[in-house]
Amino acid sequence: DGKQTFTSLSIGVSLYPDDGIDSSLLLKNADTAMYKAKDLGKNRYEFFNKNMFNEVLKKSKIEKGLRNALENNEFQLYYQPQIDCKTKKIQGMEALLRWKNNDFGFVCPADFIPVAEETSLILPIGEWVVKTACIQGKEWLDKGYNLGVMAVNVSIVQLQHTDFLNTVKTALKESKLPPELLEIEITESVLMECVDYNIETLHKLRQLGINIALDDFGTGYSSLSYLRILPINNLKIDKSFIDSIHLNYTNRSVVYGIIELAHKMNLNIVAEGVEWQDQFDILQSMNCERVQGYFFSKPIPADNIEDLTNLMTHKNN
Ligand code: C2E
Ligand code: MG
Ligand code: MG
Repeated sequence: DGKQTFTSLSIGVSLYPDDGIDSSLLLKNADTAMYKAKDLGKNRYEFFNKNMFNEVLKKSKIEKGLRNALENNEFQLYYQPQIDCKTKKIQGMEALLRWKNNDFGFVCPADFIPVAEETSLILPIGEWVVKTACIQGKEWLDKGYNLGVMAVNVSIVQLQHTDFLNTVKTALKESKLPPELLEIEITESVLMECVDYNIETLHKLRQLGINIALDDFGTGYSSLSYLRILPINNLKIDKSFIDSIHLNYTNRSVVYGIIELAHKMNLNIVAEGVEWQDQFDILQSMNCERVQGYFFSKPIPADNIEDLTNLMTHKNN
């Protein structure tokens, strides 16, 4: 129709006889290699190798396990405190999903979240996460713990689902957690896909009174001009920037630059993955608002959070 179309090409290659001695196996393995080429960014070719087969096998095992995980009560939320740099008190909690399966034990989120996203199983799982975190947040509030916001990670698949706003509204209504105590974390890299639609949803969440944090900031490629129009409250600086902040002048300058910029835009900063006193001291001197990391606490089950907060005298009475 006189319109210009751009296409790219992804190729998977398998070789006879190493990758198969009949055409159906060769094609199957070439197909696996093609999906790998797509995963690696498309517009490229990949040769099949045995690791790809193992990866596919692992993925399909995870997928099978995930399908029953909710009804088998295999999920649990761990919580990691976020510490206010000035008062050194807990100012927030991040809820982090844990999955323990009978066959393969603890599976780390980096392995199962992508599979849950691909299969859309993240929708029911994510709904459970939001509900459970809201209920937990309200329970702590009722028990007199003053722990700040409850931050929940939300996948882009959830954010873009038409039902997402209702899911959040229902979780808030049923738990009676005040919306200003809920924070939604969205990873920077994925937010930038379909950015206009996502911004609209984020605006609606903000209108409910909910906070929004941009997670893993610095790892994606959001342009600075987007930062101006994204309806967010917090920037979470990715751990990779914090890792050598106490060792490397350039990294320190980058983090300082991000913090200054964020403050000029009325955004708060949460530094992720703080493991050492030196890192904390530097961030504190840069007027970073909150830090999160093993230096203060690893993610732990809800009961242990109560012990920790009792220790830190967070209880009002
Ligand atoms: P994230 O949201 O950036 O969470 C921070 C990750 O860094 C967590 O890994 C946490 O355990 C880890 N971490 C925190 N402090 C330190 C530290 O000082 N040192 C080191 N080495 N690591 C630290 P985790 O729990 O394995 O989660 C990985 C990712 O999985 C999360 O990254 C998040 O993107 C995703 N995820 C976790 N729970 C959920 C969930 O309920 N829903 C969705 N959609 N994604 C989730
Ligand atoms: Mg997060
Ligand atoms: Mg992060």
